Amino acid sequence: MVNLSDSGFTPEQSSYLSGFVSGILQGRELPFLGQDGERRFTHEPEQSVHGTPIDDLCKEERIKHEQHGLDCYDAILANAASGEFPKDGDVFRYKFHGLFFVSPAQESLMLRCRIAGGALSSQQFRGLAVVAEKWGPGHVDLTTRANVQVREIMPENAPDVLMTLSEIGLTSQGSGADNIRNITATPTTGFDPDELIDVMPYARAMHHYILKNRDLYGLPRKFNISYDSGGSVSVCADTNDIGFYAVKVGENEQGLKPGVYFRMQLCGITGHQQFATDCGVLLTPAETVSVAAALIRVFIENGDRTNRKRARLKYLVDDWGFEKTLEETQKKLAFPLRYFPLESCEPSAPKAKQGYLGIHQQNDGKHYIGVLTPVGRISVPQMLALADVADEFGCGEIRLTVWQNLIIPGIPEEKLQAAITAIQATGLDHRNNTITGGLIACTGSRGCKYAAADTKGNAVELGAHLASKMILDQPVNIHLTGCHHSCAQHYIGDIGMMGTRVKEEDGSTVDGYNIVLGGGVDDQQAIAREVWKSVRADEIGPFVEQLLCAYLARREESES
Ligand code: SF4
Repeated sequence: MVNLSDSGFTPEQSSYLSGFVSGILQGRELPFLGQDGERRFTHEPEQSVHGTPIDDLCKEERIKHEQHGLDCYDAILANAASGEFPKDGDVFRYKFHGLFFVSPAQESLMLRCRIAGGALSSQQFRGLAVVAEKWGPGHVDLTTRANVQVREIMPENAPDVLMTLSEIGLTSQGSGADNIRNITATPTTGFDPDELIDVMPYARAMHHYILKNRDLYGLPRKFNISYDSGGSVSVCADTNDIGFYAVKVGENEQGLKPGVYFRMQLCGITGHQQFATDCGVLLTPAETVSVAAALIRVFIENGDRTNRKRARLKYLVDDWGFEKTLEETQKKLAFPLRYFPLESCEPSAPKAKQGYLGIHQQNDGKHYIGVLTPVGRISVPQMLALADVADEFGCGEIRLTVWQNLIIPGIPEEKLQAAITAIQATGLDHRNNTITGGLIACTGSRGCKYAAADTKGNAVELGAHLASKMILDQPVNIHLTGCHHSCAQHYIGDIGMMGTRVKEEDGSTVDGYNIVLGGGVDDQQAIAREVWKSVRADEIGPFVEQLLCAYLARREESES
């Protein structure tokens, strides 16, 4: 019961109100939506979830069936009032609001935002700095979905964090659990001279469509969508469940109007060593949201809800094939899917590895500066200073990349030097170091319970070691991931490392890595293959140095 005794209400009023508030906090008085979209005021349990009997549901599905994740806001408020962390099923439901209880790695909550296309205004960037300063650890982490995470949030501050996020025009809704994750887009889109189309309007449209359609929450498993503008900067769209790739279609035998369209690639899931592949469908830009929504609804109705390991889109498509998957998608669309041969589309520009860093000319003659933020960690003073740079010298915008770095666009030639000086004054740098420019790491053991190693700490040490020993004329991407969930996508790194525990002679274990080599994305697409197992974390510096020296000594001309 909520205590209102000090509120100035009469005892009768207080008793009535506290009962009412408690009723809300326990979710008793609130209507909820059934699977059929009907609002109900009493709980009438359904006997199955999209055809899967309740008894067969896996643990997470039962939690979702018990209460929709988006309906746990009352629990967030109640726990804030009592200063408690979520328990039982609410630990999972909190993720529907982007709040992760990360115990035992840290006794606190982590906030994961949702930032369409990784595009932020300078004001939003400042707002995130305020969240990190007031309720977090004084820094944020940029993620591999061009997103921002803030750690060390206490339960009593969670409502303030969510409200502040909303007030600065951002949200965290659906950024975790079985939902559609942050929509990514080529980070230079809109000003990239090589691109075919500005994809930001479509990434934003997708973002808002998801936010406004409650039936698109509570999928069988998480789901990723990305837009590639056809330019030279990668967004790793082929690692997504749906990757939309802009292509040009010229005069053709099929009689299709020449123009820019999107190829739809499906089922990228590199943690399972699979890239997205072209499904034969060609879409106009305006069709992409409807088709993605239809396909997701097919997945919602037919995906596996009994076994988490087989719950991603890939497994439904493995069972059905593209043909049946697209036939079922077609049934939910008001227009026919357009099948068009891939060979009849013009090839896109090759990707420039680490092309998001440094100074580049935009399509309007201005410049963007890509800033290297080592393993994505950036302090509040740095954030505030970069927001000032964006306002003073740029167009007031900041773009996040999926490589845990950021871009400040819209800088006229005459302001470039002043902008660079201001960036360097923050301790960050725009100059591309070919080794650290593509060095990314997941959260690791300092903040994630699944991690077998301190990925961020090890990555920073590795970068410092290599930078002090060598200069590479070719960019190398190094990805450190703490466990098989592969948040840092180790299989697409030139050098990928997955955390493991390495046994010592006395039976104890230390941090270490299994090392894979030869990964890449887009036109350099390759799944890296495992070459070494159980390399101790404190040996990876000299180990990778030796590896790169061998590469320099034995490579063929311009071999990557
Ligand atoms: Fe945690 Fe594993 Fe993801 Fe790293 S890869 S953040 S250890 S779940």
